[in-house]
Amino acid sequence: MESIELILSESRPPIPEIVARKILFESKYTCCICRDSSKSIIIHHIVPWEESRSHAEENLVVLCLEHHDKAHSKHELSLNLTTERIRDAKQKWIQTIKEKDVETILNIHNTDGAFYDYFNMGRVYELVDNLKINPTESKYYRYALQHGFINAEGLVLPLENWSKTRIEEKDYWLDFFEGTYLYHYLKTLFLMIINKKHFIRLNRIWNRKAITSVIKPGDFILIQGVFYFRSKTNKVKGNQQIKLGYRKAKGIKVEFEFDVFYCNSDSSRSHLSGRSVKTVYCLVRSIKIDGEFLVLTCSALALGTGFNRPDYFSTYYSHCYVEDDECDYDDNCFDDESEDEIV
Ligand SMILES: [Zn+2]
Ligand SMILES: [Zn+2]
Repeated sequence: MESIELILSESRPPIPEIVARKILFESKYTCCICRDSSKSIIIHHIVPWEESRSHAEENLVVLCLEHHDKAHSKHELSLNLTTERIRDAKQKWIQTIKEKDVETILNIHNTDGAFYDYFNMGRVYELVDNLKINPTESKYYRYALQHGFINAEGLVLPLENWSKTRIEEKDYWLDFFEGTYLYHYLKTLFLMIINKKHFIRLNRIWNRKAITSVIKPGDFILIQGVFYFRSKTNKVKGNQQIKLGYRKAKGIKVEFEFDVFYCNSDSSRSHLSGRSVKTVYCLVRSIKIDGEFLVLTCSALALGTGFNRPDYFSTYYSHCYVEDDECDYDDNCFDDESEDEIV
């Protein structure tokens, strides 16, 4: 693949690197006309720079050299690469990439032993609302309603309503026989969310420049790899068992806090401590440089264990190299683990 510098050399005034990286990532470094990822590429101005003076993302497109030539050729007959056709092809290609991504993400839990350890109910319902998802379409809706876990709108009722055990005495919220059905209810809601909401796979762009170009607060991201968990409170029963979860690799840190009381099983509780390979769905709240790290502070939407990892092998060949399973920058990993065991 071409280096960024080479790609940028097409036009004399440089395209801001942040814009270039974004358009390259969104186009998967591939020409939108032929969609052949083996070809060398260039960033082309849809309306020529001389006319438009615009480096805006909307005016840029990734083309292979061959289609780039065609786009610049004024031959009436070789034509067809009109501005409209390029715009249309770009939009369709980016859409196709997103759809394929959604398909990939929908498949990562289709494997033996995959389990969602945690759902952030507040965020899940916010998205159910925003995406106009109908909870009654969950096949567990009726069951959850009949057992008084949810109301007719599909919202989970206060925990005090559903079980004789007092919250303060519970290890985690679904610590009773029917809890597993409520897990399935929330899981189906979450699957409806990932069917509609595009999560950016951060493993595909695990380097600081790429992340600052592509990710902004408010984006939804998916991260797979080694995470560390550390208790922030001394509570081991009832709610407010707050934990910090984080992943550090290659100068990038992703962190979030959550209440482990709302984990979905007893084994989830033990999975969410120390060092663990996780699949994490989250909402980015802020991105900033803090010391040697680019820190993404997030709200976790869901945490999972034992999922497929589509980027695990491919990343070694991709344009954005990701070193996975490494905790290069974290000398305190083991301290964190032992700290967790004491709690
Ligand atoms: Zn092409
Ligand atoms: Zn051009």
